[in-house]
Amino acid sequence: MSLSFLAAGAEGGAVNPWVALAYLIAGVFFILALRGLSSPATSRAGNRNGMIGMGIAVITTLVTHDIANIVEIAIAIFLGGIIGVTVARRIAMTAMPELVAAFHSLVGLAAVLVAAAAFLNPDAFGLLDASGNITAVSRVEMTLGAAIGAITFSGSVIAFAKLSGRMSGSPIMLPGRHVINLGTLLAIIVGTALYAMAPDAGAGEGWLFWAIVAAAFIIGFLLIIPIGGADMPVVVSMLNSYSGWAAAAMGFTLGNTAMIITGALVGSSGAILSYIMCRAMNRSFISVIAGGFGADSGGASGGEAGEQRPYKQGSAADAAFMLEQAEKVIIIPGYGMAVAQAQHALREMADLLEEKGVEVKYAIHPVAGRMPGHMNVLLAEASVEYDKVFELEDINSEFAQADVAFIIGANDVVNPAAKTDKSSPIYGMPVFDVDKAKQVFFIKRSMGGVGYAGVDNDVFYMDQTMMLLSDAKKMVEEIVKSLD
Ligand code: NDP
Repeated sequence: MSLSFLAAGAEGGAVNPWVALAYLIAGVFFILALRGLSSPATSRAGNRNGMIGMGIAVITTLVTHDIANIVEIAIAIFLGGIIGVTVARRIAMTAMPELVAAFHSLVGLAAVLVAAAAFLNPDAFGLLDASGNITAVSRVEMTLGAAIGAITFSGSVIAFAKLSGRMSGSPIMLPGRHVINLGTLLAIIVGTALYAMAPDAGAGEGWLFWAIVAAAFIIGFLLIIPIGGADMPVVVSMLNSYSGWAAAAMGFTLGNTAMIITGALVGSSGAILSYIMCRAMNRSFISVIAGGFGADSGGASGGEAGEQRPYKQGSAADAAFMLEQAEKVIIIPGYGMAVAQAQHALREMADLLEEKGVEVKYAIHPVAGRMPGHMNVLLAEASVEYDKVFELEDINSEFAQADVAFIIGANDVVNPAAKTDKSSPIYGMPVFDVDKAKQVFFIKRSMGGVGYAGVDNDVFYMDQTMMLLSDAKKMVEEIVKSLD
């Protein structure tokens, strides 16, 4: 099929209605993709819709533009595709959050590079006015796109380093950081306004553009280094949102509607997700944007790990015996389940218990694991029915009626310090009321290991708690054997 009708009208700046229609259709597919991704049951269809939308947008862009060297572009797409497929196939589920952070950094960097290309060659981008100067509107779009891109890049690099353990997850507090951050942000805004009004956007006042980009790179680092403890999920979704806004701003510079739509969708959905995460973590949205929230200069406290306190330890056979006697079991999965890949064994255990007449439910905390929806994805992979999976606010009141709270690889999300210890880095985050259950089984590998926030957990030492110290998959497989 010839797509030449799309190319008609590309020259001379006329808007080709077919191009507008193609981008609109792509936009509809992106909206359907977001809708699909809102539930694990429809997420595959959501992904497919996103890919179709992106395919339409890319083809439309390629055929409507006067492309100098299609071979170079084809090679770039091919190489990028190969890298993408290889990384996607190889990446372990547990490394997904840092991969997402790494990809966000690339989106940010791409926005900076596009803005730099537009700055260096404004004529090719159609940004010049009659006097040969870059138009004021284009200067603002370009500068904002580059600045948001630079913040996204450096912020994501820090998030990647923290999530992958290349850098300590603890907050790094600079003295007077709020003044420095606010001052730098103000300097970026004032610099953008001055650049927009400057007599010569190129050789004359062009240095302002580069100064703004440099300040934005610095503020990206500064905003993320003070964030630690259990607050990284909000950072990841915030950076996701920033990457969208950077792309949208560059869409204006390039005059590409699809990029504006996609960027705005990513930006706003990321912002909504951040808002939801903030509510889940009981943090204020503004303090997230300001950076360094949820952590006092004192750092993590609230019972550091390593204290010697008495606890009860049990075996798989003990656990199996008590599980069989239970009427209601609530399973709380966490990051350790992902590390151990214990979801399939867990499903098998739940099936056996249900055959024995035990009611089994799964309780998912919004920040369990290392990325939003992490536990939902793993349980879906093990074909756990969605109607057995409950969000925190829907199931928390049921622990009082549960015979067993079965904690598998979770830690911070069940830590009562979040409710009681004001000095704890997780203070204020809603957690599961596992202490209300008659018995608590706690699977983790050792008493020494802590959760992401790095603090001890009083649940280990409660009278009704039985510690099951082992790799989660191994422990659950042994429980399954004992139940058989
Ligand atoms: P945690 O990180 O608090 O705890 C994980 C637990 O799993 C630890 O007790 C660890 O103990 C145990 N564990 C690790 N490997 C295994 C294994 N192979 N077998 C058995 N147990 C294992 O997990 P949660 O899910 O409770 O909390 C998530 C934390 O991560 C929160 O603080 C959240 O804010 C943060 N976070 C969440 C993100 C998100 O988007 N969801 C993103 C970034 C951070 P041991 O080592 O002794 O085995």
